[in-house]
Amino acid sequence: MCGIVGYTGKKKAIFVLLEALERLEYRGYDSSGVALLEDGKIFVEKKVGKIRELIRSLWGKQLDATLGIGHTRWATHGGVCELNAHPHTDQEGRFALVHNGIIENYRELKEFITSKGIEYKSETDTEAIVHLISLNYDGDLLRAVLKTIPKLRGAYAFAVFTAFEPGRVVGVRYGSPLVVGLGEGENFLASDIPALIPFTKNIIPLEDGEIADLTPEGVSIYDFEGNPKVKESIKIHWDIISAEKGGFKHFMLKEIFEQPRVVGDTIKGYISRDYELPFSLKEFRRILITACGTSYHAGLIGKYWLEKFVGVPVEVVYASELRYADTPIGPQDLVIAISQSGETADTRFSALSAKEKGAKLLSIVNVMGSALSRESDYTLYTHAGPEIGVAATKTFTCQLAVLFSLAISEHPEREKLMDELLKIPHLMEEVLSKSESIREIALKYTKSKNTLYLGRRLSYPVALEGALKLKEISYVHAEGYPAGEMKHGPIALIDENMPVVVVAPRDRVYEKILSNIEEVLARKGMVISVGFEGDEGLQKLSRDFMEVPKCHEELSPFLTVVPLQLFAYYIADYLGLDVDQPRNLAKTVTVE
Ligand code: GLU
Repeated sequence: MCGIVGYTGKKKAIFVLLEALERLEYRGYDSSGVALLEDGKIFVEKKVGKIRELIRSLWGKQLDATLGIGHTRWATHGGVCELNAHPHTDQEGRFALVHNGIIENYRELKEFITSKGIEYKSETDTEAIVHLISLNYDGDLLRAVLKTIPKLRGAYAFAVFTAFEPGRVVGVRYGSPLVVGLGEGENFLASDIPALIPFTKNIIPLEDGEIADLTPEGVSIYDFEGNPKVKESIKIHWDIISAEKGGFKHFMLKEIFEQPRVVGDTIKGYISRDYELPFSLKEFRRILITACGTSYHAGLIGKYWLEKFVGVPVEVVYASELRYADTPIGPQDLVIAISQSGETADTRFSALSAKEKGAKLLSIVNVMGSALSRESDYTLYTHAGPEIGVAATKTFTCQLAVLFSLAISEHPEREKLMDELLKIPHLMEEVLSKSESIREIALKYTKSKNTLYLGRRLSYPVALEGALKLKEISYVHAEGYPAGEMKHGPIALIDENMPVVVVAPRDRVYEKILSNIEEVLARKGMVISVGFEGDEGLQKLSRDFMEVPKCHEELSPFLTVVPLQLFAYYIADYLGLDVDQPRNLAKTVTVE
């Protein structure tokens, strides 16, 4: 949520900042801005809208600065306008700052600042930080930052520089992500690693409570007391190509089509027993899965698998709910936290509070070195590569691959089940080879204002995920529901204008869901089904039928979710919507 970047070196900073901002844009895109140190003065440019608006307004300007910071915003405090866009500066324009997160006590800080006769220009919480740093400045930026930090409450990452100290940028991390990139005669700060892929592969992920002091020659890391820290850098292997669109119209479509490969890569990581956990899943009295959004849906599927193959009761709880609930949690519990970025604030903090209560913490994340992976007792990685589309697709199926591998890891039939899992990437390819027929079906429903998604057992979370995709990128109201629950309420919604997407692979609840389809038809609903190929019975009941190849019944979510991803994509694309950056959303949600 929101992207920040900082640069100090010998290149023209503006090019580095804009390139990194474009890569960070998926994190927030209501406005953007840069601040540069031009001839000893701070130059600021901000624009409402996408980064391209900022680029347009900078066009033709001669900017030679070799130091600067940039920001792409996802507003939390204050409307979307140039005044509230970052960077923010102090009264005299000698300090510039970009921030990700929320300063919860900004109102009292603002009062303090205005009581000093300083004009508070924006409606943001952020502006307070830059005024405090300026007030605390006595010739050393790091000292001013150290004096300011104890005054701030909330979660934040920020980058700041001052016209008084050319060449120096200071970055702080406390609850929101920030990484340092190491170069030759140049150094970088950014909210995430993909932003820095074109510039360096040497990264130091900062931990909460750390400060990075950057000059072109070097980087020093300190804790909040100002004590120096020694940190190792990590080498990142993602190549630049994997963060490009590769001929696809949108990142989302590219990422849907990448699934056979990345799910295969993820499975490969779990075939050998090298990753064996330092504990047995059977030791626990309960497994608590916590996550948000799409990862939560992966968790719901994981529950069925873990209960079936491990035999331990599993609860799945939204992270934003778990954090403030009084759920009894203790050392007999295993908490599995799932987050693509490993930086999702709700997931991290609910998992950490469970860990404090004594639970073991296992995380499933996609980003190496992310906060959650460092805070967990054990991390299982998905090997999805960078996911740029805001609507998660490939990370969902990779999370499923990890959850299934984990669930069967101690099962006597592990080898046999692993063989079934190994067939999945190829079967996903078959689903994708029929994308054109899914597109044709999707185009029939572009005028629908509502859509109901139904499924039972493993297909119920798939229905939830299908509905979420449609909501996120097409702005069509969609509900996912357990098909058996429909008669207890949502059936009232069904009439001849209601498309009902039913996920119905041939599994143990197949007969039951056919009856649910009959109930929809009796009320004239339009049934679009997803089922196994050759299922003529299901096809006859459906107005439209999206087929997937047959697979082991426990593995159907890997295949049935793909037509639903494509269905949502093609509708949104037809409507001309911004598929990769849907309104109001952002990836990597680092605020509560
Ligand atoms: N709270 C700050 C604002 O609303 C930063 C939000 C962000 O992380 O983009 O401007």
